[in-house]
Amino acid sequence: MKHELPKLPYGYDSLEPYLDAKTMEIHYNKHHQAYIDNLNKALEKHSKLFEKKVEELLVNGLEAVPEEIKLIVRNHGGGHVNHSLFWQIMTPDIRAREFKGEIADAIKDKFGDLDKFKEQFSASAMGRFGSGWAWLIINQNKELEIISTPNQDSPLMEGKIPLLGVDVWEHAYYLKYQNKRADYIREWWSVVNWKKVNEIYMDSLK
Ligand code: MN
Repeated sequence: MKHELPKLPYGYDSLEPYLDAKTMEIHYNKHHQAYIDNLNKALEKHSKLFEKKVEELLVNGLEAVPEEIKLIVRNHGGGHVNHSLFWQIMTPDIRAREFKGEIADAIKDKFGDLDKFKEQFSASAMGRFGSGWAWLIINQNKELEIISTPNQDSPLMEGKIPLLGVDVWEHAYYLKYQNKRADYIREWWSVVNWKKVNEIYMDSLK
């Protein structure tokens, strides 16, 4: 089956004033759609791969993907899976934004407290030169870790499960924040869907 744009779980203006409606619309409707279109196009000559979920294409350094389309699938399959998660881990629901549950306990255990975690995560996002992402992941030992990836590389490619990620491509913030990536990241924390992050965390431990 061809890959399709997943439904955005809220409106374009739902994350205002932190993320503006115009950015959300272009980001979802144009950027994410383009990753999907390019992924589908690359898979056309290898249509057997349409049976696999995008996550299955990316794991183990994309070992299931033929060499001639590996880079396209890495960039656009990565873009698809990263953005699908990104929409999920943000929310307009005030209650879902509360930092609590097992993930909150695990973060406090690992990083000290929420502020210290935010500081480290934000530093990782700021330190990503050019385009990419910062992530909170579960590694192979089921431990929390903060990492950053370039371009659209997904933690799944190296066997890590992403729980939370921030997109630091300029297309994610330039309209509202221009060159001020630090301001964007600071405001982005306000819309994090900790309820969803907790669900993904609990699933990742199974
Ligand atoms: Mn993006």
